[in-house]
Amino acid sequence: MDIIQKYMTRNRCYSSPVPITVKKLVLHSLGVAQPDSDIIYNKMNTNSSKVSVHGFIEADRIIQTLPWNYKGWHVGSGKKGSYNNCAIGIELCEPKGHTYNSSTMVNYNVSSNKAYFTKVYNNAVQLFAMLSKELELDPSKDIVCHCEVYSLGYGSNHADVMHWFPRHKKTMDTFRADVRKEMKNTINTVVKKISASKETT
Ligand SMILES: [Zn+2]
Repeated sequence: MDIIQKYMTRNRCYSSPVPITVKKLVLHSLGVAQPDSDIIYNKMNTNSSKVSVHGFIEADRIIQTLPWNYKGWHVGSGKKGSYNNCAIGIELCEPKGHTYNSSTMVNYNVSSNKAYFTKVYNNAVQLFAMLSKELELDPSKDIVCHCEVYSLGYGSNHADVMHWFPRHKKTMDTFRADVRKEMKNTINTVVKKISASKETT
């Protein structure tokens, strides 16, 4: 698995870092039909951005945008507090073609998006398995998606990823089970560093 390391150096979560001890991994999806994470990255990589994530998963790339132990601003807060204080947040990029009515995907073509979904899902399984191993986390209880964090009281009211996964007959339980399976394999990780300025000029 290759990880492209492209830190959002202008985002305040990078420039004024707050260290966290990672206890949870939060899976998000963008909530917009945008398979190219660079578009979102460029919006977040500013001094005024109020959001940030630790990484993006595309069909063919895994991109790390903050050091894993820097606090990010990805899950908001709920009645009991915020998982931003203890969690890595990763965004799945969604394919082109659909729109949204509130949090419901409209004109989402399941069959033509099947191959795309399988790729981002499998990339996420690999990354979450690597992180679970490295950080000694238990996928069964330490991996959650944004809507689960909301239900637990530690995040804002968003529907991701369960507005999308069931379209492809997946749930967070299948995801956690697949991560557990993947953890039994040896995961070779290669980190490739790219500077943001190089890519955006
Ligand atoms: Zn989210």
